[in-house]
Amino acid sequence: MKDVLKMTWKEIEALPKDKTILFLTFAPIEEHSHHLPLGVDIFLGETWKNMAIDLIFKKNPDYHLLTMPAIPFAQGSIKGFPGCIHVSQRTVYRVTYEILKKIASWGLKNIVIIASHGDPKHLIAIEEACDKINKKHGLCAISPLGAFFSYDELGIDLDFPEKMQEMLSNYPNDYHAGWIETSAILAIDENMVKKDFRKLPDIKVEEKELIFPDKVSKKIAGFGHIGFPRLATKELGELINTNSAEYIYKATMAFVTRQDYKKYQHHSLHKIPFLRTNFMRNILSVFGLVVGMIIIYIWIIHKYQQLR
Ligand SMILES: [Zn+2]
Repeated sequence: MKDVLKMTWKEIEALPKDKTILFLTFAPIEEHSHHLPLGVDIFLGETWKNMAIDLIFKKNPDYHLLTMPAIPFAQGSIKGFPGCIHVSQRTVYRVTYEILKKIASWGLKNIVIIASHGDPKHLIAIEEACDKINKKHGLCAISPLGAFFSYDELGIDLDFPEKMQEMLSNYPNDYHAGWIETSAILAIDENMVKKDFRKLPDIKVEEKELIFPDKVSKKIAGFGHIGFPRLATKELGELINTNSAEYIYKATMAFVTRQDYKKYQHHSLHKIPFLRTNFMRNILSVFGLVVGMIIIYIWIIHKYQQLR
């Protein structure tokens, strides 16, 4: 594994381009309740990325594996807490596209973005940027975590160990700083979790409520988590981290070998128009076009009547 910050341009130039994979984590600095640090999503993305890189190195040692520093902001909808760095969906899209454009111009053919942040609009913006670069420069980028976060809807089997399966069915909708993220951080470094996390209340939010950020903000006010942090354990965290890394390994190898990778390209909600980056813009341009045509029509009628 090599960090691009420590490489020279001559070394980048000399890389065998189709045997090189560059990984980039893209996740926010964001509140994670009373017990977890602001960097949870970044720590998880970086950990899963490094574990997936280890798997590739062991099983496919002929690949050159590059990393670069994580991008520490994201589209997000949590409101009312200090410590969040959220930007618009459009900013995420543009930053991703412009970075991908530069990296593609180095000649790299395999860029894997680890968007370890569950907000669908964040994931979809990054997927849209990948789609655009793939169309313009040939296939070179994928963001496989949108499909990971919507595995159920997409029918992707994540092959969960029994203990995880059991927790997922007994304690579902554990969306933010609950047992999933708390466990995963416990497994990375117990010192990052405040000791009294088992005293935190359960906060239940239904999946369909997630599209109403104000409603969610009210439910999580004063805390900041959605789910069941008190149930977290280090053992569960190890299972979660291993399972996530194995998924990234699988999706990355499918992509770099160009075999059966399409199922990893998009979140299940990618097909919903109003979650797309340009939705409002497109609506406004259609609206503007219609209004413009009506004005021209009225003007022509008016002129025609004047002539008569
Ligand atoms: Zn998180």
